[in-house]
Amino acid sequence: MLFSKFVDTLEKLSSTSKRLEKTNIIAELFKKVPSELISKVTLLLTGRVFPSWDEHELGISDRLVIRAISLATGISQDEIEKLWKQLGDLGKVAEQCIGLKKQSTLFSEPLTVSKVFENLRKAALVEGEGAMDMKIKLIAELLTNATLREAKYVVRTVLGDLRIGIGEGILRDALVWACFDKKIGFSYDAAKNELVFQSDDGRQKYNEYVELVQRAYDLTNDFAVVAEKSFAGEDALKKTSVETGRPLKVMLFQKAKDIEDGFSIVGKPCACEYKYDGFRLQIHKKADKVWLYTRRLENVTKQFPDVVAVIKEHIKADDFILDAEVIGFDQKTGKWLPFQQISHRIKRKYDIAEMAKGIPVIVNVFDAVMVNGKILIDLPFSERRKLIENIVDEKKDKIGVAKQIITNSNDEVKQFYEEALSLGNEGIMMKNLNAPYKPGSRVGYGVKLKPVMETLDLVIVGAEWGEGKRANWLSSFVLACRDADGNLLTIGKMGTGIKEKSEEGISFEHLTNLLKPYIIEEKGREVKIKPAIVIEVSYEEIQKSPTYSSGFALRFPRFVRIREDKSVEEISTIDDIKKLFAEQR
Ligand code: ATP
Repeated sequence: MLFSKFVDTLEKLSSTSKRLEKTNIIAELFKKVPSELISKVTLLLTGRVFPSWDEHELGISDRLVIRAISLATGISQDEIEKLWKQLGDLGKVAEQCIGLKKQSTLFSEPLTVSKVFENLRKAALVEGEGAMDMKIKLIAELLTNATLREAKYVVRTVLGDLRIGIGEGILRDALVWACFDKKIGFSYDAAKNELVFQSDDGRQKYNEYVELVQRAYDLTNDFAVVAEKSFAGEDALKKTSVETGRPLKVMLFQKAKDIEDGFSIVGKPCACEYKYDGFRLQIHKKADKVWLYTRRLENVTKQFPDVVAVIKEHIKADDFILDAEVIGFDQKTGKWLPFQQISHRIKRKYDIAEMAKGIPVIVNVFDAVMVNGKILIDLPFSERRKLIENIVDEKKDKIGVAKQIITNSNDEVKQFYEEALSLGNEGIMMKNLNAPYKPGSRVGYGVKLKPVMETLDLVIVGAEWGEGKRANWLSSFVLACRDADGNLLTIGKMGTGIKEKSEEGISFEHLTNLLKPYIIEEKGREVKIKPAIVIEVSYEEIQKSPTYSSGFALRFPRFVRIREDKSVEEISTIDDIKKLFAEQR
C-alpha cells in the first residue's frame, strides 16, 4: 500500500472536526487495507510504531529531525531553524524544505506504508555507538523519497504529533463501522452526518459492538491487536484476553461524598480498605520475568529493582497480574511518606540502586486480574481478594495485602476512616464485594472517600516568562482539561503554590526545566507548550467564563503536585468540571 494513500486519509481527517465524518474516513481506509497491513496502519493512525505501553520509543528530538531534514534536502540546519521559528511546526517545515530541495534525487522510489513503518521501527531500536547517526539516516531516507505532503506526516509521526484529532473513541468506533456494519445493519448518511439503522434495535446492537471493541482495548491497550481481532471476526474479538507483559487498563473508582453515599453506591456489606497515598503499580510476572507498569501504563520495571526482588520472593505463584499501591516509608521514623517524596523514583534513570536504598517502598496488593493462568476479571471481588491473601507472603515494611475490614456499619467505617487518616493515608476505599474487575472504567464498583476537596488533574499547554527576578523562569501556567474526544480545552492560568526555592518543594525553576523541552512556540513573553506535563490543582471555585475555551475558569487555582503517574488522556474532563460546577451550587 502506498504511503500517499494513507496520507490522503490523514489529510481528510485533519480537514474536518466532525466526529462521525472522521470515523467514516477511518472506516473507509480500514476496508481497503490488506490484512497483513492492518496492525501497521492502525498503529500509524495513533501516531506510533509501537503500542503506547511498549518501552520502545522513537526517542527522536526536534534537533535530530532538523538534522534529518538537512541531510535529505541539503538545506542548512540554520535555515531550517529559521523556518521552524516562522512556521512553528516541523512537519510544515519538512514539507516546505522538500519543495526547496537543493539535492535532486535521481532514484527516488515511492514510499510505502511498510517502508515508513519499518524505517521508524529500526530508528527506535538502534542502540549503541553511532545510533544517532543511524536514526537520522533512516529518517532522511524516508524524506528523500517523500512527496511534500508525505514529508509533513513522516515528521509528525516521528515527533508523535499527527494533528489529526482522533482519540481512542473514534478509532474504536471506526473498527465497529469497518468490521460489523453489516451485522448491525447501519450506514452513514454523510449529508445529514448521522447513522441510519435498518432495524429498531440497531442502535442497541451498535452499542453492544462498541462495548465489545472497547473491552478488547481495555484488556490489551493495543489498537493493533484489537484491529486484528476485529477483522478476524466476532468470536476472535470476544476471546481477546489479558497477557502477562502487556498491561491492561486499570479499574478506576468514583468518589463518595460521605459514608452513607459510599454504601449507597457499593452496597452493604462492603469491603473498606486504606487508601494508601502512593502510586499504583500493575505487577506482572511470568516464570522468572517481572514487569511493573504505572497507572498510565509506563514500564517502570528498571526503576524498581527492589520491588522486583520482593515480588519474586514473596508472592507464591508462577504467573500473575496484580494491582497494588506502593508507598514510601521513612527508615528512621518508620512512618509512611507522602506521595510527592517517592514520586521521583518513577522517572529516575540513573543511581537507581542508591535511590531504592534511600527511599524504600512497601507494596500493598489490593486486587488481582490473573493468577496462575486463570483470568479473574469476572470473579467477585471477595474471591479475588481471597486469592491475593493466599499468594502474598506478607513481610513487614516490604509487602502486604491492603488492610481491609468487611462491614455494614456506618460507625465501623467511620472508625476505620479515622484510623486510616491518623496513619497518614489519603482516606479509604469502599468496595462492592460481588463486583468484577472492570478495566478502564470508573464504574461504581468501588468508591474513594477522602477529606480534602476534589482537586483537578490538568495539563500545562502554555506559560509566560516571568519578570524581574523571575525573568528566567516560566511563572504563569495555562491549564487545560479535555473533552470526550481528547481535545484540550483551557480553563485558567495558575501561578500560586509553586515555591521560589527548590529546597522548599517544586519550584518555578524546577517546572521551567521540566517544560522547556516541550516549548513549541514563543511570542514575546508568551509560550505555547506541547501537552505533556500533568499537574494536580486545587481551587476555590469553578466559574463560568468566556475567556477560556472550556467555558469555565478556576478561581484561585493553586499547584498541588506533579502527577507523573497520569497521562494527558487521564486528565480531568469537561464533564468532571461541569459536575463539580453543578455540585458547588
Ligand atoms: P486519586 O487522585 O484520588 O489517587 P486517581 O484518579 O488516581 O485518584 P482513582 O481510581 O480515582 O484514581 O482512586 C483510586 C486510587 O487510589 C487508585 O488508582 C490507587 O492508586 C489508589 N489506592 C490506594 N489504596 C488503594 C486501595 N486499597 N484500593 C484501590 N486503590 C487504592
